[in-house]
Amino acid sequence: MDAGTLGEATAMARALVKGVRAQKPSGIDAFLQTYDLGSDEGIAMMCLAEALLRIPDAHTADELIADKLAGPDWSEKLGESDSAFVNAATFSLLLTGKVIEGANDRTDNWRSALGRAVGRLGEPVVRAAVREAMKILGRNFVFGRTIDEALKRAEPERRAGLSHSFDMLGEAAKTFADAERYADSYRSALDRIAKEAKDGFRKSPGISVKLTALHPRYEYLRQAEAVAAVVPIVRELALKAAKADVHFTIDAEEADRLELQLDVFEALLADDELFAPKGGSSWGGFGIAIQAYQKRALPLCEWVAEAARAHGRRLMVRLVKGAYWDTEVKAAQVAGLPDYPVLTRKVATDVSYLACAKALLDAGERIYPAFASHNANTIAQVKALAKGRPFEFQRLHGMGEALYDELARLEEAIGDERTPVRIYAPVGSYRDLLAYLVRRLLENGANSSFVNRIADEQVSLDELVRDPVAELDALEPKRNPKIVLPRDLFGEERRNSAGVDLSDPLVREPLLGRLKVLESRNWTARPTVGKGKGRAVTSPYDRRLEVGTVFEASAAEVDRMVRAAHAAQIDWDALGGEARARLLERAADLYEEHAEELYSLCIREAGKTLIDAVLEVREAVDFLRFYASEARRQFSRPLPLPGPTGEQNELRLHGRGVFASISPWNFPLAIFTGLTSAPLAAGNAVIAKPAGQTPLIGALAVELMHQAGIPKDVVQLAPGQGSVVGGTLTAHPLLAGVVFTGSTETARMINRTLAERDGPIVPFIAETGGQNAMIVDSSALPEQVTRDVISSAFQSAGQRCSALRVLFVQEEVADPMIAMIAGAMEALKVGDPSDLATDVGPVIDEAARKALDDHIEWLDKNAKKICRLKPPKKAANGCFVAPAFYEIRSLSQLNRENFGAILHVIRFAGDKLEKVVEDINATRYGLTLGLQSRIDTVRDYVEEHARVGNFYVNRNQIGAVVESQPFGGEGLSGTGPKAGGPHYVARFAIERVTCIDTTAAGGNASLMAALEG
Ligand SMILES: Cc1cc2nc3c(=O)[nH]c(=O)nc-3n(C[C@H](O)[C@H](O)[C@H](O)COP(=O)(O)OP(=O)(O)OC[C@H]3O[C@@H](n4cnc5c(N)ncnc54)[C@H](O)[C@@H]3O)c2cc1C
Repeated sequence: MDAGTLGEATAMARALVKGVRAQKPSGIDAFLQTYDLGSDEGIAMMCLAEALLRIPDAHTADELIADKLAGPDWSEKLGESDSAFVNAATFSLLLTGKVIEGANDRTDNWRSALGRAVGRLGEPVVRAAVREAMKILGRNFVFGRTIDEALKRAEPERRAGLSHSFDMLGEAAKTFADAERYADSYRSALDRIAKEAKDGFRKSPGISVKLTALHPRYEYLRQAEAVAAVVPIVRELALKAAKADVHFTIDAEEADRLELQLDVFEALLADDELFAPKGGSSWGGFGIAIQAYQKRALPLCEWVAEAARAHGRRLMVRLVKGAYWDTEVKAAQVAGLPDYPVLTRKVATDVSYLACAKALLDAGERIYPAFASHNANTIAQVKALAKGRPFEFQRLHGMGEALYDELARLEEAIGDERTPVRIYAPVGSYRDLLAYLVRRLLENGANSSFVNRIADEQVSLDELVRDPVAELDALEPKRNPKIVLPRDLFGEERRNSAGVDLSDPLVREPLLGRLKVLESRNWTARPTVGKGKGRAVTSPYDRRLEVGTVFEASAAEVDRMVRAAHAAQIDWDALGGEARARLLERAADLYEEHAEELYSLCIREAGKTLIDAVLEVREAVDFLRFYASEARRQFSRPLPLPGPTGEQNELRLHGRGVFASISPWNFPLAIFTGLTSAPLAAGNAVIAKPAGQTPLIGALAVELMHQAGIPKDVVQLAPGQGSVVGGTLTAHPLLAGVVFTGSTETARMINRTLAERDGPIVPFIAETGGQNAMIVDSSALPEQVTRDVISSAFQSAGQRCSALRVLFVQEEVADPMIAMIAGAMEALKVGDPSDLATDVGPVIDEAARKALDDHIEWLDKNAKKICRLKPPKKAANGCFVAPAFYEIRSLSQLNRENFGAILHVIRFAGDKLEKVVEDINATRYGLTLGLQSRIDTVRDYVEEHARVGNFYVNRNQIGAVVESQPFGGEGLSGTGPKAGGPHYVARFAIERVTCIDTTAAGGNASLMAALEG
């Protein structure tokens, strides 16, 4: 921007800020000023608003109210705002907050305390007051419950020269039925709008569409299918919009859906019927929203302009900064991506916005840009940049009202034509508002947001109108140092494992091509010592497909292995923690270098999907690096111990000898690597027995460890039958310990074998089964529950130790919750794991299939069937058990773990949470437990009383991350310590203490020296 334009922009921004600050805030602006999210009250208000109105039962509503209102001091907020709406909401909360004061005291019996407190005023009064407060809040965000109501409300604004873009609330449909419902609401809204639209798309009300509302699997994994399903619906809607000459904007959502948004956009752009000339000109109201915070924003603007030119269309494009910033940052960290898809400094987004604005304006008549912002500085800069070229501003309903009023006044004062302003107006029921509401509260509550800063008296006028370009120019580094790259999440100690951005077609498509080539590779697994006996390994997806050959070790070969390992262990131990750490880290690097071979094997030998294969390799790499860092921390130098003067006390950790590591097929690489690398880190030699079903992956893992420089005798592969290899290993006199993951029955057998041995008693570390539950109360968000239940129960075909088996749902919400889960199940695809679109692959073998089928047969007779998917058509040669969902009466009906995609549901009464926890404890398993509730006291109760190793709140209960969520259960679920946790590696060590009397050589010199000093 040249100096003149910048000066003009700054002067206008100053005038706008002064004008807004002179006015009293109203609507949501006023609300956000009173309840900023940095305060307890703001958070309590947001939590209440998010949850209260969906809770049907009095019991849970009262608990939520007590939970959120007892703490903050609402009286401070009363009268702080001049807005009647804010005060009405505050008053209701103050009233209830006072009434239930003390009810949240955890030392008291909180349920009875709540009962006493609420009793004074009467529960219904309290509940009604708070519900009213939340409805007041909701009304300020929603424009109308129906399109009729909304159009009526829009009338006075339209008379004042404003226009509207209606957003039919609802996004991220979880079921086909929801998607159909949302599509219908768009259809009827457009029919209704068409009747009002007489002035062309620039002036008439129009519509904004979220594509996630139109398909339950609108995601890159289902790109082809989702786009094919969504295009006809969007086309139908767009045709209505074109006919009425109103605008039709496809909203921008998460970054990993951008490719899909563009596919849909491009398909419509090429559709001549939509743009057939009418009265001399063709429709110009079609377009997309572009997010400036995305690093791809500027090229995207240029691409859109070019696409418009290439197809000879005129488009209307909305530029926003972007509403999912926090989600994007977390998602990239979780996925271990090389970098973030979004910019990490707010000011960088402001600069990107200006660059994009310029690109859109420069596209000339091809693009009619709509600039959506509530930032006075951005607005002034865009206006200055435009230099009279046509565009419009857009704001959200309830926000930025004063700002745009001020702009209109200013434009009038300086004799400028008034810039058109459009209001984005959400239409729908409160129930569908939640996701939108929370995004708005978060976005505007952030202290970097302009809405927040303009309200803050501490922020000067100069700061508010600072030029972002100059500000960013002066900043070093450009990248926000507070947001480290996903790779550096675990600090200097350990590099995070690398994920793969499968949403990027430039990454995904070549990878899929290379995996295709790897499908013809034939693999071999041989025992490190001896020849073994050959057996073909086939794919669980199709038993006709041979993946390779395993040579299974005999008892004599296993014996030779143990002896060789025993001899090698002394030098390995003597290497020390630092040297062993370096070798393990080298192995981790090699795993990453050979990741694609490992993915291929996970898919072909273990029947995993690519998504699961990527997670598997990442977890294995994390184990190697974490245990390396533990070796460095605990095994590099002696630990000095306290004692009297004249004495030196030290503790040293050493390997115990030869460990047998016996691993399962369900994480053939990750658990195999964890069980092998932890004892290695501690200075032990290891004989690693892979599962009978997955020896090839184990063989590649051991080969990479050898390549990394870990001596062949120190880590040895012993493929073979449990009775031969496992039996010989566990009974071997030279064995120093066993680490095992698998069934409780096998663990018992190993335990008995170990008990019968003469000689030293050795450690046995076992990770076994679970009867994992998730508790869902009526404050939980059904869409979130559905997402988390589906992944917890069915991802990896339910073959995870942590997988959800039994869902407890509060009875008041059970019917709709169960229906939504069943609906989402219908959208799952069962089949070939090498197809990216597959959600559920095969089970591991025929024995597993039979056991699961037997259980389903039992369920058919003893439980209520809710949903049962069909196995794929081409399943005849594979082992498939399609996901099943049954309702049972009580947990006691299940007497063992069913290791597959079978979900059971049990209803419970809202006031019987204690009984649910007791029942779960009574299984004596204690692996994972999920809870979905918005009530902190409920969470505290479950956390305190449930005897489980891993407790997950408001998320899925699978996918424990090394070091972040050390994994392992108690009771029948395992011995501990937790894998990937701080106490794990030391469990493989012996401890030796040396005590030296330093005075023995003739006096306590160090004491004397210290005194002298
Ligand atoms: C009419 C309208 C339609 C909209 N449609 C969409 C849509 O389709 N898709 C969508 O995603 N959003 C949409 N939004 C929401 C929009 O993204 C936000 O309202 C907007 O980001 C707020 O920007 P601002 O200029 O008003 O405020 P500002 O306070 O100037 O900017 C806040 C924004 O800066 C960005 N930001 C904050 N912190 C950082 C950081 N550390 N690093 C980088 N960037 C940061 C975020 O985008 C944040 O929202 C729409 C908004 C309006 C008004």
